[in-house]
Amino acid sequence: MQIADQFAETMEENFSVSILNNEGETQDGYVSSYGFAALIYNIKSKKYILFDTGNDANILIHNLKEAGVAVSDIQKIVISHDHQEHSGGLMGIYKKNPNLEIYVPVENQVKFNRKYPLAQVYGVEGILEIDENIFISGQLGNYLKEQSLLLKTEYGKKILLVGCCHPGLYDIFNAFNCTEDIKAIIGGLHDARSFTCLESVDFIGACHCTRNKDILEIRYPEKFHKIKVGENFLF
Ligand SMILES: [Zn+2]
Ligand SMILES: [Zn+2]
Repeated sequence: MQIADQFAETMEENFSVSILNNEGETQDGYVSSYGFAALIYNIKSKKYILFDTGNDANILIHNLKEAGVAVSDIQKIVISHDHQEHSGGLMGIYKKNPNLEIYVPVENQVKFNRKYPLAQVYGVEGILEIDENIFISGQLGNYLKEQSLLLKTEYGKKILLVGCCHPGLYDIFNAFNCTEDIKAIIGGLHDARSFTCLESVDFIGACHCTRNKDILEIRYPEKFHKIKVGENFLF
């Protein structure tokens, strides 16, 4: 079933988030690989936004096909940070569809501009709304710059997508001025050890590089969700 078709039945939802790359378990037909990628469909704008691209374009394109989405359907790609397992799949997508908007941390803008000359590359410094109710934090972190993505539903729910969380969970929550109102988080939490930010989060989809998955699962058994490639969440 096409991702967009699901909304015919669940009109109260605003976004779908599909996991297209992660290491570990998969749903039938999908392939796993080290790294992270998630595809967002925005019901309001009817646009597909890809957050990170995993490590390998062939795997990403295979998983996109499984999700019923064509490479040409993607108009915007957000790269959380310039680590291979987050940006490695981008060239394969670009070769099939160079007509893209690519959003990178501002310090990576020149490099991405050179590498993807036919795309529109935006270097993001601070909060930027890239699509209706979808915001990028802009680059955070001291030496390794990384940005995150926030989805705001019309009924007050906020969903946070993170790449590796190198700048730290606290700084990411703070960048969006959300100390208590993020309801779901999906992505890599790297070696985060302090989870106080997560107390009010209802859905913890910690995956990819998260080192303390076991601790999170024990601490938040009702909220922790083991992410599988091919899973699709509606918010
Ligand atoms: Zn990573
Ligand atoms: Zn990383």
